[in-house]
Amino acid sequence: MNKIKIAFFETEPWEKDYLESQLRNFDLIFFEEKINSNNLKKISDISVLSPFVYSVIDKKIIGSLKALKYIATRSTGFDHINLKACRNKKILVSNVPTYGENTVAEHTFALILDLSRKIYPSLEKTKKGDFSLEGLRGFDLKEKNLGVVGTGNIGRHVIRIANGFNMKILAYDIKKDQKLAKKMDFKYVSLDYLFKNSDIITLHLPYNKSTHHLINKESLKLFKKDCYLINTSRGGICDTTALLQGLKNKIFAGLGLDVLEEEYFIKEERELLDPDFKKTCDLKTILQNHILINQPNVIITPHNAFNSKEALLRILDTTIENINSFSKNKLINLIK
Ligand code: NAD
Repeated sequence: MNKIKIAFFETEPWEKDYLESQLRNFDLIFFEEKINSNNLKKISDISVLSPFVYSVIDKKIIGSLKALKYIATRSTGFDHINLKACRNKKILVSNVPTYGENTVAEHTFALILDLSRKIYPSLEKTKKGDFSLEGLRGFDLKEKNLGVVGTGNIGRHVIRIANGFNMKILAYDIKKDQKLAKKMDFKYVSLDYLFKNSDIITLHLPYNKSTHHLINKESLKLFKKDCYLINTSRGGICDTTALLQGLKNKIFAGLGLDVLEEEYFIKEERELLDPDFKKTCDLKTILQNHILINQPNVIITPHNAFNSKEALLRILDTTIENINSFSKNKLINLIK
């Protein structure tokens, strides 16, 4: 019997070794880089594709992989995959729904604490041998209002950690889990109320049409002056122009961002020379990202919130389960 052929993209050598040891009954092919027009030629006969978030699986790629039946993305977010094109071709898609809930929540607090205790400017000073406290006064988290937008897997871990700091939680979600609210001692409020009353707002939403530019010039008008915004979800949830405007008008005292709009092109600026560049990238946003990076009260990490040893192993283990479930026709973690 022919083995199911699977192509993995954006894999490190240790991941290749692990997947090979666990998926012995499959024919595996690995690429360290993201999917592109060159490596696409080498996988024309695959029936399973396993990308990470930087491999954009668009209509063209889906159309060119004639034998493709299943995509097992090694991520929670799936906005890098054209789901409509998959549906049209009857290609099934699964994700890893819960590998990073505590991991991303811990990173969220790393960003919050960096801002509240001015860790980065403190380090810059001490590395220069300057031990003065000038400009380093922070603020307590205790009893501050934390606005958690999205109380799914990650948001609820953020609430758990925030309770440990004795913060007051204001939460918003389109689906309210009142049992969770009672158990974790928080209340659901309207989004407007959350924006108006939060000292720190943290975003834990999927990126889609309804969340695109949720933080925009209009919503900014509601925000408490001198608040902090943390985004570990997806860059497109915040309008970059609004972020800069909020900083300029001192609505934001600081920003902690693990994700940026057009972040891929900041990471790989060489791609700007790619012939596809004009179709996929907004130069104004890239320029604005550079302005953001250089603001003293903005901390940016390179989409690193998921990146702990434990979380990466959980990603691989769930991906292995997803692929096994596909081969047995008992699919799990399907994106509908
Ligand atoms: P989740 O699906 O468990 O929770 C998302 C919550 O958002 C749900 O409760 C849902 O009801 C709510 N929601 C959806 N649309 C909404 C809207 N328009 N308004 C209000 N609430 C809405 O997802 P999660 O595991 O908590 O992850 C959240 C996001 O974090 C992911 O979609 C992904 O984009 C991002 N993420 C980032 C990293 C990273 O490394 N930075 C890692 C993992 C996940």
